[in-house]
Amino acid sequence: MATKKENKATELQKKLFMKKKNAGLTMSDAEIKTADKFAENYKKFLDEAKTEREAVKAAVSILKKNGFSEYQKGKKYKAGDKIYYSNRGKAIILSVIGKEGIENGVNILAAHIDSPRLDLKQNPVYEDTEMAYFKTHYYGGIKKYQWTTIPLSLHGVIVKSNGETVEVNIGEDDKDPVFVVTDLLPHLAQEQMKRPAARIITGEELNILIGSRPFKDDEASELVKLNIMNILFEKYGITEEDFISAELEAVPAFKSKDIGFDRSLIGAYGQDDRVCAYTAMMATVDVKGIPSKTVVTVLTDKEETGSDGNTGLQSSYLEYFIYDLAESYGKNGRDVLSASKCLSADVNAGFDPTFADVLERKNSAYVGKGTVLTKFTGAGGKSGTNDASAEFVGYVRHIFDENDVVWQTGELGKVDLGGGGTVAKYIANLNVDTIDLGVPVLSMHAPFEVTSKADVYMTYKAFGAFIK
Ligand code: MN
Ligand code: MN
Repeated sequence: MATKKENKATELQKKLFMKKKNAGLTMSDAEIKTADKFAENYKKFLDEAKTEREAVKAAVSILKKNGFSEYQKGKKYKAGDKIYYSNRGKAIILSVIGKEGIENGVNILAAHIDSPRLDLKQNPVYEDTEMAYFKTHYYGGIKKYQWTTIPLSLHGVIVKSNGETVEVNIGEDDKDPVFVVTDLLPHLAQEQMKRPAARIITGEELNILIGSRPFKDDEASELVKLNIMNILFEKYGITEEDFISAELEAVPAFKSKDIGFDRSLIGAYGQDDRVCAYTAMMATVDVKGIPSKTVVTVLTDKEETGSDGNTGLQSSYLEYFIYDLAESYGKNGRDVLSASKCLSADVNAGFDPTFADVLERKNSAYVGKGTVLTKFTGAGGKSGTNDASAEFVGYVRHIFDENDVVWQTGELGKVDLGGGGTVAKYIANLNVDTIDLGVPVLSMHAPFEVTSKADVYMTYKAFGAFIK
């Protein structure tokens, strides 16, 4: 009798309880292979695209190879046309015109291509104790101590006063030198180690070492700085004042790597949010045939600093693009937006058993359990979030289940322990049905972030199912 009762319970549990499995158990061997292959191309993209500008460049090169052409305002596009629009080289919109045109709204995928880093200050170069340094101002939310004693590369542009733009990329080639923020030796760190973690390294201590060899002269002062400026003048034709109109970003110089004996994970800089940018872009590029609705995929800048500025999603550029598209069909932009749906593609915190205290087990995202659907972000009593409607969650969930997407739900940490936001609310504020979807990440915002290959692939698959 006992066994029979247990069987009944097991049966009922199967029917009634939530089943969430590791993607590694659900995916076929063939699909795991496909996921691993997808990860190789993703890693290449990460190594090529360490800044928002480089991400736009890499995207344009992929798009051109796949039949996308530059958007022409006012042109009426037909079903199947593939276009892209670059906003100042720092954000990009790509679009595939669907069979329905814009009649019943568009499907939007929105990810960001900026990542936490150290920006150079506008007057960055100085010499102290016959060593030369750059002053920096960190960008985005970082644990500052993580950015010391790792090799850094320098990326960006310098606009000279004559209008000429110089591109900078030093530290990525194996033959290139790299740069570093030094830290105090433990022997003398007794006082430093008493500082609270947020100030173990302060913002003004994030100074990048850039040289130590003096210019040969016995008379002048600041000879090390002079020698560096001379090298920069010879290489780029720039003077110290040109840094004022530069955007130079110091980022980790190392390449993306497989992690683990089983190579199931990816370690790399900037996976928040280039993991969603790459998967959203490739899902759009790889869309089979002509999708029914027009797909509008936006890879934006400035998310990590609050989405302000003309290349961030609080700017109107996405709205303008959709309004212009609507106009070419003789429609109202607001009608198109009101009928549109959006997956705000951003990462969520993966459950880390070493730091289990901050996460609530039943409502956390787990590495390896598939793409994560996040109904709301924000902080406190759900402030600063669009909270997706049950109807829209139901709509999205149905699509994923129909298309064998391994997915899970997750909240960013325990209630009242912190929080965060994405671009979801800015798109939802345009009266678009919006929800967050993305990859669970370990060590988010660290110089070396960790994702699972299965989750990356499932996120790509989820985007594909949503836009087809
Ligand atoms: Mn972030
Ligand atoms: Mn993000």
